[in-house]
Amino acid sequence: MYLNQSELFIKHLDLFKKIGELADRQNKEIYLIGGFVRDIILQRPSKDIDFVVIGKGIDFAKSLAQVLGNAKVSYFENYGTAQISIEDLIIEFVGARKESYQRDSRNPIVEDGTLKDDQDRRDLTINAMGIGLNRSNFGQLIDPFDGLGDIERQTIRTPLDPDKTFSDDPLRMMRAIRFATQLGFKIEENTYEGIVKNKERISIISQERITEELNKIIMSPVPSIGFEYLYYTGLLELVFPEMQDLHGVETINGFSHKDNFFHTLQVLDNLCQLSDDIWLRWAAILHDIAKPATKRFEPGIGWTFHGHEDKGSRMVKPIFKKLKLPLNEKMKFVEKMVLLHLRPIVLSQEKVTDSAVRRLMMEIGEDIDQLMKLCKSDITSKNEKKVERIKQNFAVVEEKIKQVAEKDYLRNWQPPISGTDIINRYQIIKKEHIGLLKNAVKQSILDGTVADVQTEAFVFLDQLANEMGIQKK
Ligand code: ATP
Ligand code: MG
Repeated sequence: MYLNQSELFIKHLDLFKKIGELADRQNKEIYLIGGFVRDIILQRPSKDIDFVVIGKGIDFAKSLAQVLGNAKVSYFENYGTAQISIEDLIIEFVGARKESYQRDSRNPIVEDGTLKDDQDRRDLTINAMGIGLNRSNFGQLIDPFDGLGDIERQTIRTPLDPDKTFSDDPLRMMRAIRFATQLGFKIEENTYEGIVKNKERISIISQERITEELNKIIMSPVPSIGFEYLYYTGLLELVFPEMQDLHGVETINGFSHKDNFFHTLQVLDNLCQLSDDIWLRWAAILHDIAKPATKRFEPGIGWTFHGHEDKGSRMVKPIFKKLKLPLNEKMKFVEKMVLLHLRPIVLSQEKVTDSAVRRLMMEIGEDIDQLMKLCKSDITSKNEKKVERIKQNFAVVEEKIKQVAEKDYLRNWQPPISGTDIINRYQIIKKEHIGLLKNAVKQSILDGTVADVQTEAFVFLDQLANEMGIQKK
């Protein structure tokens, strides 16, 4: 039923039939498997398609490439997989396999196996479904762990014992949390406990793979889902301790500061409504990262975090290094956002003068819009009146930025036709005609009757010159 409604399945129907027929001729079983099947059911876009062949995946891909007219095949002999690129698709073939793991590595010992063996080795029930493509079972869902039910119940669950699944390959813990975040699903209790129990095993996973999953969490619509799971399972402390340190509330003489971990998550979620720039999202995560290190209780004043923006921006590089994020201009952008994240707020609390706004704009340059988005997201407080007041002040700053930008633009703006252009185009007899023509173009563009484009300005000028009796050269 779901297949008839799936654009994704219908779009590739011809290809699937060809593949099924070829497998029939070779007496092989072949199935669609994993993420693509999940995405068919969820009706999500999906680019890579995985097939599992009972037998040798590479041999099958070779013969398919010939059927498809010598499509290009890449082989990964070590993994027993082969990829074919067609149009914007990458299709991958793997022989069904059975895996057994050793304690110190996520690279298993692999033997040929059945479809069920292959489904058993997958990370989550929603990622372990297959669809038959042979004539005898074309379009049939093969779902031994009720992945379909878990999609309906919006549940993340491992196919086998979570303790074994996560211990075998601890990256699966990050994947479970990442899928919960991307899809807005809940992690089933035993699966969750399996993560808590095996969290320390994350140490055998490379930083690159961990960060790849972190970035996918960050690019989800509501990243706080993932960070809360990371926090409560105990993984956050291991993979990103600086963020964990934001957590906690201290009280002295009845004064408490806010919990900067949950504040940061709220800022991040807010920002995700405004921007899908991953680096701005990283800036939101890191904007208060130095609050624990700069926290002081000052009698008569309360809690202060003086200089946290400065110290925080200096923490960006070591964190990027550790997480194996790129140490390039993207990192510099994040440093700059962290350093300046308080400035628009401070500005909104003073009298907003043109020169103060201009100074900020000079310092930030073309990233001003990004900074404003970050600052808007940073307005979180339980006191609605306070939020409203800050938002209003903030609107004043934004309006001022616009005005100053417009003023400066106009001051520096030059019409698209210069005095030299006029001398080159017309037989000028009276010198004052140059200024007159130039001014007329400028005014018409400012009035909006002529577009700020040279060709259009010349159309206008030619007509005016003609009326004034000025000849073209
Ligand atoms: P995405 O493409 O969004 O990252 P995906 O689930 O398609 O998600 P892939 O890395 O493309 O992820 O993997 C394809 C399939 O391979 C998965 O759906 C899953 O069945 C299986 N798989 C991937 N990684 C693992 C793993 N670490 N352990 C077990 N199975 C895995
Ligand atoms: Mg995939």
